Amino acid sequence: MKNIRVEIDNNSGFCFGVVNAIKNAEEELSKGETLYCLGEIVHNSLEVERLEALGLISVDYPTFVSLRNKKILLRAHGEPPATYNIAASNGLHIIDATCQVVLRLQQKIKRCYDAADSSVQLVIYGKKGHAEMNGLVGQTQGTAIVVENVEDLDKLDYTRNIILFAQTTKSLDGFQSIVEIIRSRMSPEADFQYHDTICRQVSNRLESIKRFVASHDYIFFVAGAKSSNGKVLYEECLKANPNCIFISRPDEITALPDGTESVGICGATSTPKWLMEEVATRIKAMNNIPDKTSNDMNFTTLSTSIFEQATQEYHLTNDVDAAPTNPYPSGSIERILYKKNQIDVIQWHLEDLIRNPAIDPKEALELKRRIDRSNQERTDLVELIDSYFLDKYKEIQPQPQASINTESPAWAIDRLSILIIKIYHMQEETMRPDASEEHKQTCANKLAVLLEQKQDLCTALDQLLEDIRDGRKYMKVYKQMKMYNDPSLNPVLYKNG
Ligand code: SF4
Repeated sequence: MKNIRVEIDNNSGFCFGVVNAIKNAEEELSKGETLYCLGEIVHNSLEVERLEALGLISVDYPTFVSLRNKKILLRAHGEPPATYNIAASNGLHIIDATCQVVLRLQQKIKRCYDAADSSVQLVIYGKKGHAEMNGLVGQTQGTAIVVENVEDLDKLDYTRNIILFAQTTKSLDGFQSIVEIIRSRMSPEADFQYHDTICRQVSNRLESIKRFVASHDYIFFVAGAKSSNGKVLYEECLKANPNCIFISRPDEITALPDGTESVGICGATSTPKWLMEEVATRIKAMNNIPDKTSNDMNFTTLSTSIFEQATQEYHLTNDVDAAPTNPYPSGSIERILYKKNQIDVIQWHLEDLIRNPAIDPKEALELKRRIDRSNQERTDLVELIDSYFLDKYKEIQPQPQASINTESPAWAIDRLSILIIKIYHMQEETMRPDASEEHKQTCANKLAVLLEQKQDLCTALDQLLEDIRDGRKYMKVYKQMKMYNDPSLNPVLYKNG
């Protein structure tokens, strides 16, 4: 047996919008009815083949227009209003898997379009003809100006007001450059507003994937040969680690060079996680590496993705009093994770509010009590997550030399949840319209540290779960004893009782 570490990148693979669309498709297909999908559900032929084997039929636009009385799935990218009109007049039943983030962006653009007068140029930074862009431009009756690159900026009239949005999958750097150029060209009498509408599920990936590939001796980058995101990311990975091999299928794996101690597996935003897992399994089989693949390796990935989703979805309203929703089924660990981050992100904003120097003391007191309740809820959820692990590992016999870890897995997950929120806000700071260049640069440096911290925390958590599963570490969970909110332990409470 060889002692080679094989690791899958936590940040590679589908975003939650695509995961949700696939889940929708699987649910509908499980009912045994025919389901059509307008366009390929994801830019990955193996995943499309897998769903087509379950009965999904991908159709192009002309075929869609000719369908009558069928069920049609609209993918995460979203669609323009015209698609909904055609579906309604052709008796099509829509399964709408438009990502919530895209949907909100469509609504925002529509509101802006409806409110704008003729002095305003509505501009969207994105790829012409991309499915998401068609949906966005459709909100403006096709009038929005699409800016794909710096050359396209010559089309704008800088003596008129400009409102800028971005396709969710564009890079933050690209958006920032576009903002700077527009700003530098604006006439003093005209107004420029921009909305950073880039989705954090993908914007962080470039930096984190470069760090991941640099931390391994050898890399298999998994993506479809036609994936444009795959090509771009692969080029960047090659710069960070020349021992980086592009493959599309597990049977393309090549022999590892002598002396390899660690192998990393990563991929594009269109690469399914199951495919990277198959690649890992095959590498282990080819190299006689003990197969420790289990769902534990995916727990960090799952948590990260759900935390990013909850954070992103909270900021669709950015309202601490909005009624919380949860897209996951009751009783599932996914639901608990979503709720965990939701509580954390609301508390984050409560902590901001309470620091307002002009706050009314009565309001501050109410907020403080709310934060206390929230802290209790957070702790309860951490305990619930640890109970999940205790139950999962109840059959494991710790080895005689097994040691205890300073923190339980759920407390590490708690830190991960907060870290995701911190990353979100730090990214916002790097783009804050009213901040100085110096502030933005400082925040960009801090952001790089946070992203590194996230990767390290995920690696440590994966390692801890692996050690618990293999009996090298054992878990012990103590119920938190909060003294300040216990009427029998807080002197202020029991003396006044
Ligand atoms: S908005 Fe984000 S989560 Fe939604 S589909 Fe786009 S990249 Fe995926």
